[in-house]
Amino acid sequence: MITALGGGVGAAKFLEGLASVSADESLNIIVNTGDDITLHGLKISPDIDTVIYRLSGMIDKKKGWGIRGDTFFCLGELKRQGQETWFNIGDRDLGTHIYRTHLSAQGHSATEIASKISRAFGIDKRINIVPMTDTGVETWIVTDQGEMHFQEYLVKRHMKPSVIKVYIKNIDRAFPPPGVINHIKESQAVLICPSNPIISIGPILQVKGIREALKSTSAKVVAISPLIGGASLKGPADRMMKGLGLEVSSTGVARLYRDFIDIMVIDDQDSDEAPQIEELGLDTLVVNTVMSDVEKASGLARAVLGLL
Ligand code: GDP
Repeated sequence: MITALGGGVGAAKFLEGLASVSADESLNIIVNTGDDITLHGLKISPDIDTVIYRLSGMIDKKKGWGIRGDTFFCLGELKRQGQETWFNIGDRDLGTHIYRTHLSAQGHSATEIASKISRAFGIDKRINIVPMTDTGVETWIVTDQGEMHFQEYLVKRHMKPSVIKVYIKNIDRAFPPPGVINHIKESQAVLICPSNPIISIGPILQVKGIREALKSTSAKVVAISPLIGGASLKGPADRMMKGLGLEVSSTGVARLYRDFIDIMVIDDQDSDEAPQIEELGLDTLVVNTVMSDVEKASGLARAVLGLL
């Protein structure tokens, strides 16, 4: 059994590779839900959906999110009716949000909903996609232009405001879903996907008991750096780390995880960082981490599994 912690785009690419090279293994994927938002009355869980769309082969690979070939007629109609439409929801994607909202109204938990949607997308039963908590939480960003929901910062404001602080609303009430702590403790390995350490992995680590379980597990805990050459390939990880006064490098990410990881995986381009990461008391693996296609993602996953 392998457990992985991740957010959306970067995690989903890695997990597709991992799923392809671990055919007999059960995979528990604990996914960030701090990005969740309710829009047009619909419950949207972007990271969960990105992982499901990727693992089902339906993802729009060019964008890294959404369903391939989707259309946007409904969004156009909402706009015509005077609604705010900065969050891009495709027509087929909308089906997922309607189903989630319907299941939620019937009283199903976020865990049950993620499982039902996974099965609806034909995801193999050995792959268990679990939200980090069943309790509603929201990632908010304090910026030089005011406080806003993470999606407003990312999508509506195109990451332009400077980040001063990040906090997760209601995180003090968030418990992991049943089984999650045991999965961390009983897995052969726990993998921290190449995801934004502040707004994807950070919220998961703040859910009660998760960081402690990572520290005490006998599993090997391996993190794959989302930064290459001091920059993120996509998304705001680098500018957020800078805004928060953190060192924007794989070493900076390793510092955030050093109390619970054993091994930090960094890109070939950052091989000169290996000695300083090892000085933190961690082992390193230097390998190509740019997942430009599924073969590259599988190669990375194979290299990571080779550590176990
Ligand atoms: P988000 O919630 O959609 O922002 O998704 P994640 O948190 O999972 O991913 C964002 C992070 O993934 C960024 O910091 C990217 O640099 C990283 N990422 C995306 N693609 C790759 C890749 O091919 N290799 C590595 N190492 N990191 C990647």
